[in-house]
Amino acid sequence: MKLRGTKDFYGDCEELFSKVEDISKRVFNSFKYSRVRFPLIENSNLFERVLSSSDVVNKELYSFRDRSDREISLVPEGTAPTARLVLENGLAPCKLFYISPFFRYDRPQKGRYRQFHQLGAELIGYSSIYSDLEILILFDQIMKSFSIEGKFKINFLGSQESRDRYTEYLRNSVSNRDVCSDCKRRIKQNVLRILDCKVDSFDDLKSIEEFLSDEDREKYNKICQMAKERGIVLEKSNIIRGLDYYTGIVFEYEYNGVVLGAGGRYDNLYSEIGKKALPSTGFAIGIERLLDNIVLVNKKKSSVRVIAVNDSCREKAFNLCIMLRKSGIETDFSLKKENIKSQLSKDGYKYALIIGQDEIENNEVTLRDMENSSQKRVSIEKIVEILNV
Ligand code: AMP
Repeated sequence: MKLRGTKDFYGDCEELFSKVEDISKRVFNSFKYSRVRFPLIENSNLFERVLSSSDVVNKELYSFRDRSDREISLVPEGTAPTARLVLENGLAPCKLFYISPFFRYDRPQKGRYRQFHQLGAELIGYSSIYSDLEILILFDQIMKSFSIEGKFKINFLGSQESRDRYTEYLRNSVSNRDVCSDCKRRIKQNVLRILDCKVDSFDDLKSIEEFLSDEDREKYNKICQMAKERGIVLEKSNIIRGLDYYTGIVFEYEYNGVVLGAGGRYDNLYSEIGKKALPSTGFAIGIERLLDNIVLVNKKKSSVRVIAVNDSCREKAFNLCIMLRKSGIETDFSLKKENIKSQLSKDGYKYALIIGQDEIENNEVTLRDMENSSQKRVSIEKIVEILNV
């Protein structure tokens, strides 16, 4: 039995997963982002340093002691390991992306797994509003490449002074309230996080926007305005985000009532891990949730099954199969002896190419459209051209 909260990928679902990787890689490359692969195990203190007051570290980290008594964790997210990789290899400034499995000891439920996958971008070493905009536009373009048209919920956490003012306001406002045990801890560790609480509601409290400095508010409004002018659908909201390290914009992307991904600016993260600060922005998109919301169009476009009428035609059929695969056409044929009827009964092919004695003598094949069962004879030389249309 597979472990709780894990998922097997095979058949159509795995095909869709690979397509998501291919299509998103193309979008990342068009923005000149290059791929990184970090290990799936890291020292636990990497996450403890940057995510100290978040649920990811307090409740969800998959940690263990290895045989040399080191405290190791399975990676729960991509930003901290990418930061470590960037610092150790001196890559900044840089534009990076990752596609990777992650692990969180979450309560398994629909759309929430203990091993899940994210694709994410990290734009490291840039502080201009163009870098914030690039991240929003890149995220949006990935979604549009899957015909997903959702909405960003956006907020701005601002400079340390703005956040300090808001933190003080929140502490004063909630100190006498009867809150859940998680919120009691949050009030001590990072009071902003109470706004993410699923148990207590703090809708009556003021939004952080009212506490921003003039400079921060101007920047926030400029980013929203420029993004909207470029076709990004967004709505201001008082979201804070579960992970601790955000400093400027933060956003969640909603589609069909589900959050498919999230991100923001985290200018303090690098100084937590390394010696100096490096302004950065990024996002992560949950692949499982994306897969649940994608419809594949034109599936199995030119998928072909080559069919030998009898045993003496099998070698010719095999050769035709090799020739079609070299031309990039998805092709298969029966590796065991089967009659025509059972060869034709296989699902998942748009065409069958039937080869009998008569076809071989005339250098032709019979092309059968599997959707409507119509058939016609075509010359072998023309077949690649016909199938590629
Ligand atoms: P986060 O890294 O928590 O900001 O999450 C970013 C996105 O990753 C979410 O919007 C989800 O789509 C996805 N995600 C996060 N945690 C899980 C999980 N346990 N299972 C499946 N997807 C997840």
